[in-house]
Amino acid sequence: MDIVPENKPQDFIRAIVAEHVRGQKYPDGIVTRFPPEPNGYLHIGHAKSICLNFGIARENNGRCNLRMDDTNPAKEEVEYVDSITGDVRWLIDGWADHCLGLNKGAPYFASDYFDRIHDFAVELVKKGVAYVCDLTPADTDTYRGAPDKPGKDSPYRNRSVEESLDLFRRMKAGEFPDGTRTLRARIDMSSPNMWLRDPILYRIRHTDHHQTGAKWCIYPMYDFAHCLSDYIEGITHSICTLEFEVHRPLYDWILGSLDLPRPLPHQYEFARLNMTYTMMSKRRLLELVQNNLVSGWDDPRMPTISGMRRRGYPAAAIREFCHRIGVGKVENTIDLSLLEFCVREELNKTAPRVMAVLKPVKVVIENYPGPGTEELDAVNNPEDPSAGTRKVPFGRVLYIEQDDFREVASKDFFRLAPGREVRLRYAYFLKCERVVKDDAGNILELRCTYDPATKGGNSPDGRKVKATIHWVCAETAVDVEVRAYDRLFTVVDPSDVKAGGDYKDNLNAQSLTVIADAKAEPSLAQAVAGAVYQFERLGYFCVDPLSGTGRKVFNRTVTLRDELAKLEKRTGPAVRV
Ligand code: ATP
Ligand code: MG
Repeated sequence: MDIVPENKPQDFIRAIVAEHVRGQKYPDGIVTRFPPEPNGYLHIGHAKSICLNFGIARENNGRCNLRMDDTNPAKEEVEYVDSITGDVRWLIDGWADHCLGLNKGAPYFASDYFDRIHDFAVELVKKGVAYVCDLTPADTDTYRGAPDKPGKDSPYRNRSVEESLDLFRRMKAGEFPDGTRTLRARIDMSSPNMWLRDPILYRIRHTDHHQTGAKWCIYPMYDFAHCLSDYIEGITHSICTLEFEVHRPLYDWILGSLDLPRPLPHQYEFARLNMTYTMMSKRRLLELVQNNLVSGWDDPRMPTISGMRRRGYPAAAIREFCHRIGVGKVENTIDLSLLEFCVREELNKTAPRVMAVLKPVKVVIENYPGPGTEELDAVNNPEDPSAGTRKVPFGRVLYIEQDDFREVASKDFFRLAPGREVRLRYAYFLKCERVVKDDAGNILELRCTYDPATKGGNSPDGRKVKATIHWVCAETAVDVEVRAYDRLFTVVDPSDVKAGGDYKDNLNAQSLTVIADAKAEPSLAQAVAGAVYQFERLGYFCVDPLSGTGRKVFNRTVTLRDELAKLEKRTGPAVRV
C-alpha cells in the first residue's frame, strides 16, 4: 500500500508542505481538497490530482476533502456526483479511512456554502469593493479590453453602496432576467492580469440546481466560490493545475478583502497530465458519449477512471502511474504505454493464470484413451507461490489457437505443423499427424497423437520441443465472448486535426474487436464480475461487470506486449486479435 515510499524524492509541492509542517504553520494540520465540477466522469488526468491531494493528506496525517465544485447548475447532474464519489473511493481505496474528508459520509458541495458565499458578497459591496453592473455580457467583454489593451471602466462602477446592495438583493429575489446584471469586484480595469479587471462574482441564472433546487437564481462564479469554499473548509493547500496560476491574484484578493482570521488557504499550481493517444477534456468525452461513438462514460476504451475500472486496470496500477510521472511545473505528454506498463506490472503480480483459446481450431488426439477426461495440475501464478495450483481437464479433443498451427512451417516457425511436435502447457507433447479439411479446403480439425510418457511437459528420453502452446479441453470448455480493445485514437495527439476537420476524424475505427466464440477452461465459469485473469500467452482479461448471466464477456485489459514481441521475434507473428 505504500505508494509514496519515504525514500523517493519529493515533488515541489510536497517540499513546500513539508516546510510548513516543520514550521508548524498550520496548527490544525494539513488540509487539501479535490474539487471536481460534477459535469462529467473523472478521467486519468483527475487521477493525478487525486493522488497528489489525497497523497499529501495521507502522508501528513491530514485530510483531503472531496468537494463538488457545483456552481454552474446548467451542466451538472447527480449522476456525475455519484460516479465521481465512487471513482475517488475506488482509486484511493485503503487510504480513504485515513484521509478522505467527507461531510456526514457524503462529499462536500460548494453549493452548501451558497448562503455564506452570498453574505461574503454583501460584505464586499458594503466595503465598497464590489458593485452591481448593468452591462450586457457582450459589453462587459468589450469593456474588459485585451491583454495588450487596458480595459474601460463600466459606467456602473461608481454606483453607491446602497444602490448596489439594493440591486443585488433584487437580483437574488429574481426580479431580473438572466444576463441583465452581474455583481463585480472593483479591482483594476488596467491591470495586466485580465482576471483582475473587475471580475464577475455573481451572475443571474434562473435554473434549478441539483442540490439547492429552486432556492437560488443567482450563482457565484468559480473564482469567487472556490477560494471561499477553501476558506470555509479550512483548506491549507489549494492545489490545482497551471491554468489557474493567473487566477491566483484574484484568489488572494478576495480572501484578503474580507476580514478573515489567518492563516488563509494558499493556492499552488502544477502541470496537468497529458497523455499520448488520449483526450482529457470532459466536454469532448461527453460528445463521444452523446454521439454514441463509445458505449458510455465507462466504455473500456475511454480514458475515464470508470472505463479503466471496467477494463480491469487495478487502482494500484493507476496510483503507481501517478507516482512515476511525478509532479512538476512544466507541461509534457506522457506515453500511454507507461500506464499500460504499470497495469501489466501490477497484474503480473496479482492475476491468476488460466488458459483460453480465442481463435480455436480443433485437435483430435487419436491415441488418447478416451472418452473421459483427466485432471492435470496447473500453476495459478508463478509470481505468487501462495496462489497454489488448480486442476485443468484434459481429453481426447482439444482446442488450440489457429495461429499456433501452420500447414507449411517456415524456417522460423516452431509451433505445430504436420509431422512437428510441440509441448501442450501443463500437459504432454503433441504431434500433428495430418490435417482434415472440408471440400472447400478449410481446416476442420488436426489429427494428432500424444506421448503419454511426457506428462507434465518433459520427455524421459530427453527429446526436445521448441514451443509450448496453450489449449483448452473441448468437452469441458466454456464459451466466452472476448472484447479486444485498441487505442481509441489513431494519432499521438487526437486534437491535432487537418483544416476543416475534427478530433473525431482521429478515432480508431478498429478500436474494438469482438470475438464472440472463444473457448476457456471450465474454472472461468465461476469468474466473478471485475475479476482479472491472465490468459496464458494472450494478455490480461477482465470479466465485464455488465456481462450478466449469459455467456461471460471478457474485456482485454492489456496485452502481454513484451512477451509477444519476444515470441514474435522467435516464431513469427503470434496470436493477434
Ligand atoms: P475538463 O477541462 O476536462 O473539464 P476540469 O479541469 O474542468 O476538466 P475539474 O472537474 O474542474 O475538471 O477538475 C477537478 C480537479 O482536477 C481540478 O483541480 C483540476 O485542476 C484537476 N485536473 C483536471 N484535469 C487534470 C489533468 N489533466 N491533470 C491533472 N489534474 C487535472
Ligand atoms: Mg474545471
